Amino acid sequence: MARIKNRDTKPEMLLRRALWRSGIRYRVAAVTPAGRADIVVKTPRLLAVFIDGCFWHGCPQHYVRPRSRQDFWRAKLAENVSRDQRQTLALEEKGWRVIRIWEHSVHEELPDVVERIRQALSAASLSAEPDWRVTFVECIDEHRRIERRVLTSLRDPLASREMTGRRITAKWRRPRGA
Ligand SMILES: [Zn+2]
Repeated sequence: MARIKNRDTKPEMLLRRALWRSGIRYRVAAVTPAGRADIVVKTPRLLAVFIDGCFWHGCPQHYVRPRSRQDFWRAKLAENVSRDQRQTLALEEKGWRVIRIWEHSVHEELPDVVERIRQALSAASLSAEPDWRVTFVECIDEHRRIERRVLTSLRDPLASREMTGRRITAKWRRPRGA
């Protein structure tokens, strides 16, 4: 499974429409030097945009540790995040700009997302933000529902941070009608 999502998902369609309205011209699912990106812009500069699902790609706000088949899901998450890291770094190394957008952001802050893309196309330089992703979650106190979450930086696989807190159960859900 190359990427765990289908083309033309709802958030992709929403973002594409918003970009088109703002005069940004793109290609869909075009090939980059590191695989396909959801949205590719070639001028005025090379930009790859990925829309990352909150569960599959370890959103710090919405990744919910599944209660069953934990080893399977743990491996899946680690594998997905490490693929995102490799892909992002490989593209940036080749002079591409890479923007990865959480699925929830497309629904909750679409104008900001469009602005971010516009910035990435026009700014002389782009600050490469760490972009934290959940890579590992374990339960440390079943009774009090406390879990330990390990996050890693998309752009620096050696950078990590840990958080301990109550189990996150609030999966992000698409707003009604969206
Ligand atoms: Zn999210």
